Amino acid sequence: METLKIVCSECNSVNTIKTEVENEPLLCSQCQADLDNPFPVEVTDESCKIHIDENDIAVLVDFYSTTCGPCMAMYEDYEDASLAFGLTVRFLKINADKHQGVAKEYGVSALPTIIAFKKGEEVNRISRQLSQVELSLWAESLI
Ligand SMILES: [Zn+2]
Repeated sequence: METLKIVCSECNSVNTIKTEVENEPLLCSQCQADLDNPFPVEVTDESCKIHIDENDIAVLVDFYSTTCGPCMAMYEDYEDASLAFGLTVRFLKINADKHQGVAKEYGVSALPTIIAFKKGEEVNRISRQLSQVELSLWAESLI
């Protein structure tokens, strides 16, 4: 039976789920949070690394700053795009002013920068404001 490792958005614990089991709520074994919750997850340097390294599903990380106009302009589009990707692509957001470790590690110098990861490896990145359609198509391409 095929299994997938999914990092809980609430408590960052790693859950192993069986992909064939349908119609069952997929809840975190530690905190009972919904693993299928598609909303963007606000992460710190520490939790960002766990999501990048431990998730079997693709991960998008939006490096933003609250003082960056294009970053804030993309806020709703990023959230809207995420809604279609519950257990297929995890959408993360990291405030690169407050949490600079991951941004440094991946050489993020312009905001917004969005980086796609699969199983801990960077797939590609884009450093500009994206529309909801662009974000959706990108996420789709990672599945
Ligand atoms: Zn949890």
